[in-house]
Amino acid sequence: MSRIVVIGGVAAGMSAASQAKRRRPDAEVIVLERGPDVSYGACGIPYNIEDPAREIDDLVVIAAERFRTERGIDLRTGHEAIGLDVAGRTVRVRERSGEYDLGYDRLVIATGAAAVRLPLPGADLPGVFVVRELRDGAAIKQHLAATRARRAVIIGAGYVGVEMAEALRGRGLEVTVLEKADQVVPGFEPAIAAIVQDELVRHGTRVETGVSVTAIEPGLAVQTDRGAVPADLVVVAVGIRPNVALARAAGIGLGDTGAIAVDDEQRTSAPDVFAAGDCAEARHLISGHLAWVPLGTTANKQGKIAGANAAGAAERFAGIVGTAGFKAFDLEVGRTGLGLAEARHLGFDAIASRSRHKSRGHSYPGGTDVTTVLVVERATGRLLGAQMIGEDAGKRIDVLATALHAGMTVDDLEGLDLAYAPPLAPVYDPVLIAATVARKELAAT
Ligand SMILES: Cc1cc2nc3c(=O)[nH]c(=O)nc-3n(C[C@H](O)[C@H](O)[C@H](O)COP(=O)(O)OP(=O)(O)OC[C@H]3O[C@@H](n4cnc5c(N)ncnc54)[C@H](O)[C@@H]3O)c2cc1C
Repeated sequence: MSRIVVIGGVAAGMSAASQAKRRRPDAEVIVLERGPDVSYGACGIPYNIEDPAREIDDLVVIAAERFRTERGIDLRTGHEAIGLDVAGRTVRVRERSGEYDLGYDRLVIATGAAAVRLPLPGADLPGVFVVRELRDGAAIKQHLAATRARRAVIIGAGYVGVEMAEALRGRGLEVTVLEKADQVVPGFEPAIAAIVQDELVRHGTRVETGVSVTAIEPGLAVQTDRGAVPADLVVVAVGIRPNVALARAAGIGLGDTGAIAVDDEQRTSAPDVFAAGDCAEARHLISGHLAWVPLGTTANKQGKIAGANAAGAAERFAGIVGTAGFKAFDLEVGRTGLGLAEARHLGFDAIASRSRHKSRGHSYPGGTDVTTVLVVERATGRLLGAQMIGEDAGKRIDVLATALHAGMTVDDLEGLDLAYAPPLAPVYDPVLIAATVARKELAAT
């Protein structure tokens, strides 16, 4: 009987363990998770925080005990992998009562990513939180319940910062968002970011861009280069880094992005060692390069493939186009593929074309404008990327993601047979309008 060890027990790790056990019921599958929680949807944390009536454990997808009793997985919470000997095929593990060595035949590293903490005075004060793990969500809820906080400052206006702004406005707090870059959601095109910012402001959020936080003072005053902002709660949402210390120390190869380099079968540079999820890179189908786009979608899929292959299969991960979405109050925001600057940096001769169209039929009440930015290769008209904001942008972006997978041009896009009904979409869906506008702009350049 062989032993498959998985390090990390959230999306990628539990997908890997479940798949490995399904493929090889005779194998011993052991999961090491240093924290107390496994198999939860971190993506739901802001929405759970918004609702004081919901338990944070609602976010757990499958309870730890069920992995043990129903799936036959030896799941060890509170067990941290602190060393890895890939030649000797051994993991050094620390738990409450001491340390031990655990041998493996196949290993899956699914150590995920950690929130970046501000290297500033006061970053560890009570009342200052990051949003990454289930217990971060629990701690914020406890703080809100215990202190009756009225004023929140969110440092960082990426998608997590925006989701937290909505959650805390929903709880009735005054919210200020401080962003160092000169726009919110810095990974997005300026035209999309401007609409996100307007939506934040329309819902009573104070937004400052181009501002640097210099310290957080006791009593919670967030000091910036423009003055102090008082707070009862501070959320630091300035990004994440892959947890690669263990892999790096073991001599496992990292990619240019700093995450673990893997091939299409999720194999690392070490024999019989796989990696998946937020700690690993993925092949970007548009750039052709290995990229680090840490998302739950990819973590689940890569985990499943790493688990299958650790159990002896030879499955391949199809790669990513970088599709992601989030909600900013009443608007949905989506992106897929490359942004304009990214495309040009990669050597594409690209243009960005912007369009705006109604989300529903003209005779039907409600809906919003949908703004779309298409990034298109000038010579061929091939779609390289897209971003959208407005009603149903989350699903409309999936049409564009599919177009990217298919290598479609704007001419191909314009000919798509998309659904029309006044409550759902106009006769010409915003996706089709975007394609027409891009085609005309290409013709004019
Ligand atoms: C607020 C928020 C919103 C999000 N929204 C979305 C969304 O809408 N859509 C989307 O696709 N993604 C979203 N994500 C991202 C998604 O949650 C992550 O991509 C996903 O959790 C990654 O799963 P993972 O298993 O790779 O890593 P993680 O979730 O980071 O889990 C890794 C686990 O490994 C454990 N570990 C690390 N090192 C060790 C060690 N040495 N020994 C033992 N255990 C170890 C950690 O304790 C951790 O539990 C969101 C994330 C957050 C925080």
